[in-house]
Amino acid sequence: MNKLTIRDVDVKGKKCLVRCDFNVPMKDGVITDENRINGALPTIKYLMDQGAKVILCSHMGQPHNIFTEGYGLTKKEKKKVKAMPESEQAAATAEFMEKSKKDIKKFTLKPVADRLNELLDNKVTFATDIVGEDAKAKVAACKEGECVLLENLRFDAGEEGRSEEFCKKLNEFCDVYVNDAFGTAHRSHASTAAIVEFGFAKTAVCGFLIEKELSVMADALENPVRPFVAILGGAKIADKLNVINNLLDKCDTLIIGGGMSYTFIKAQGYEVGTSLCDNEKIDYCKEMIEKAKAANKKLLLPVDAVVVKDFPNPIDAEIETEVVDVTKIPADMMACDIGPETRKIYSEAIKSAKTVIWNGPMGVFENPTLAEGTKDVAKALAEAKGATTIIGGGDSAAAVKQLGFADKMTHISTGGGASLELFEGKKLPGIECLNNK
Ligand code: AMP
Repeated sequence: MNKLTIRDVDVKGKKCLVRCDFNVPMKDGVITDENRINGALPTIKYLMDQGAKVILCSHMGQPHNIFTEGYGLTKKEKKKVKAMPESEQAAATAEFMEKSKKDIKKFTLKPVADRLNELLDNKVTFATDIVGEDAKAKVAACKEGECVLLENLRFDAGEEGRSEEFCKKLNEFCDVYVNDAFGTAHRSHASTAAIVEFGFAKTAVCGFLIEKELSVMADALENPVRPFVAILGGAKIADKLNVINNLLDKCDTLIIGGGMSYTFIKAQGYEVGTSLCDNEKIDYCKEMIEKAKAANKKLLLPVDAVVVKDFPNPIDAEIETEVVDVTKIPADMMACDIGPETRKIYSEAIKSAKTVIWNGPMGVFENPTLAEGTKDVAKALAEAKGATTIIGGGDSAAAVKQLGFADKMTHISTGGGASLELFEGKKLPGIECLNNK
């Protein structure tokens, strides 16, 4: 990695503005998964130990921009209302308005501040705004070795809007800019990139989490111990076109499962019933099948499927299933998981690998009856002896944890979107903007 890290700069007595990814899942104000908080701790502790004044910031969810625009509708909501019949617009507006009033409770970072405070010896204070009076006062009072966590950056429209004014104000809390928000490194927002790109933050380095995520994943992609098996799943193929293409260049075996695999099945000339299928991408799939053949790579596609009459509703409802060959998916049925024969083939390929990366579930894993394929893949990764196993965040990370295999993996990424962009061969703006070594 050619970027400076916090080890390379003097931080004693300096205000270090640390962009973290504290976008943790919450239920009724309680944090349900602390992976991202734990991921940020090594950087925060190091900076505190070095005597820095640590100013932490993060986004949480997709709230209304209530600090800059007051209570009201987001652009998306306004569009939705406009598309409704006139008679329904007033009620919908009122409903969205009510929702926006609850945002301060729903998307506040206060619970994260409380948890950090417990983990860091009561040295964390929480600012109830981002660049306002409270934040200024708390930052001014922050002593060496202490932390302030600013309120949710996305309460200000300037964060996602890359406002120069907002960057300038944030930069008042910043002698040294530290990006450690791997989960947001693929976004080019005020606090993730623009504050550096506009020339405000001159000293800009990465924290330990970004350093670790990058080194593990870049290593696997650029210098994999072979055989190198990549596994892709999930719903939409259109989101993953460049990922498939790039991974086919790098890996020895590409395994495809999940909703995206049925466009490939159609490309092989079979009907897929009511399964997810992107007709516009059939030619692309044919091209990838040819590309794999020409390069002598293995492209593994499902040979059998678990099919259902209707998509489960609610998603975890009890459901009747059948197993069919992928060449015989009935016209009125939908493939929602890979079948037992496919699971066997995929598991064998995974177990004989020396490097494995995985992104995306093999089926509708939210339903216990349709989670078997995803489970077996997770199990095969856990049993891949001597292999480097990397889980690219998101649903696959959730599945691995739920099954109790988390400690059997080499690395579970804190960023689903960001790792997918790395698998795609893209540069991440939150990392590109940092000072080179
Ligand atoms: P993605 O966001 O593209 O990674 O997709 C994740 C979602 O894909 C999960 O919510 C799964 O339920 C869904 N999914 C996986 N396989 C299928 C399938 N065969 N049919 C419909 N949805 C699927």
